Amino acid sequence: MNILVVNAGSSSLKYQLIDTDTDTLYAKGICERIGGEGALIEHKQIVKGLKVKKESPMQNHADAMKLVVAHLTDPEVGCISSMDEIQAIGHRVVHGGAYFSESILLNDDVVEKLKLCRDFAPLHTDAHLMGIKGCLETMPGKPQVLVFDTAFHQTMAPEAYVYALPYEYYEKYGIRRYGMHGTSHRYVSTEMAKLLDKPVEETKIVTCHIGNGSSISAIKGGKVMDTSMGFTPLAGVEMGTRCGDIDPAIVPYLMEAENLTPAQVNDIMNKKSGFLGVSGFSSDSRDLESTINDGPSNPKYERASLAVNILKHNIKKYIGSYAALMNGLDAVVFTAGIGENNSHLREIVCENMEFFGIEFDKEANAASPHVSETTKISTTASKVAVYVIPTNEELVIAKDTAALVAGK
Ligand code: ADP
Repeated sequence: MNILVVNAGSSSLKYQLIDTDTDTLYAKGICERIGGEGALIEHKQIVKGLKVKKESPMQNHADAMKLVVAHLTDPEVGCISSMDEIQAIGHRVVHGGAYFSESILLNDDVVEKLKLCRDFAPLHTDAHLMGIKGCLETMPGKPQVLVFDTAFHQTMAPEAYVYALPYEYYEKYGIRRYGMHGTSHRYVSTEMAKLLDKPVEETKIVTCHIGNGSSISAIKGGKVMDTSMGFTPLAGVEMGTRCGDIDPAIVPYLMEAENLTPAQVNDIMNKKSGFLGVSGFSSDSRDLESTINDGPSNPKYERASLAVNILKHNIKKYIGSYAALMNGLDAVVFTAGIGENNSHLREIVCENMEFFGIEFDKEANAASPHVSETTKISTTASKVAVYVIPTNEELVIAKDTAALVAGK
């Protein structure tokens, strides 16, 4: 089945056309600056290896979808002859609140429930609604499926998702842990479980999705037991520009000390912290790594090292605490931009973890700094398997969409 995967942001729209029968990616691209000056589309035809980038006015997401369809069906850079060859559309949705615990076929009731998720992710939810509307206008009658980043985490028990605040705030505002990156955690944990020589129900896996945004999950028997992101994506480990877990009392303290508004302190924690805040110069792990490689003669060395060591420390703590929660550990998986590409971070996280049964294979790890396929980086004797598994959220979205449309 040919599925068009759509990831709609407020002024952008990413897409992929995937054949779920053969797991083939035919084309992918992005429309940017929708509704603004200089709107443009970048389209790649994967099979023929063609690429086009051109400015084209787009007032809204419906205009963007029309342009996407025009490129997909273009005789030269396209890959299908008409829209009829697209069987369904699968949307990536950032937040499904507590309303959605699995992917779902779009109908009016679903749209109404999605609108209620505005409370948790206002910008993203409005963008998704625009993307859905754009698809309805461009491809009326085509089945649409929503796949939620939060859904996989809905198996957590109340003791994992209720915060120890007055209970009324949970009831009144839905303040609880939701978690993010669920589609990625689901994909890599499912792939990992296939590699373990035991039934899924008996598996205990920690998945580390470490990118610009990062989250770690404890997945026992194929179900999320806990995850590091919380009510928002700010919680958990240190990230590119987010602070991750801090003592909550720091927030009112800083607001008074620096005379900050709630919006300003929120901005500091989300956009000026993490790698950027600690290093003082970059949110990108590649910049930090090259500075560390320069050695102490580089004046930025100390703070770059500190920024990376904080992340290492955070990840180790999550792996340890999640092993305790699950009463065991079969495998640790690294994925996403940093998890897949930064062999130095993987090494410093996994060293001195023999107590947990991790025997790290430094050579295998160092030999695969940029991993494009599943790679084992623990020794054969290691009780806990450590793997790098490149994530593929779009494939999960396409497969869920195909399954729902086929009535499975
Ligand atoms: P997002 O959370 O925005 O999806 P990514 O998963 O793309 O982010 O991760 C971005 C991070 O991954 C950056 O810190 C970047 O340095 C790192 N990264 C991405 N690609 C590479 C690469 N080829 N080599 C080293 N680091 C990489």
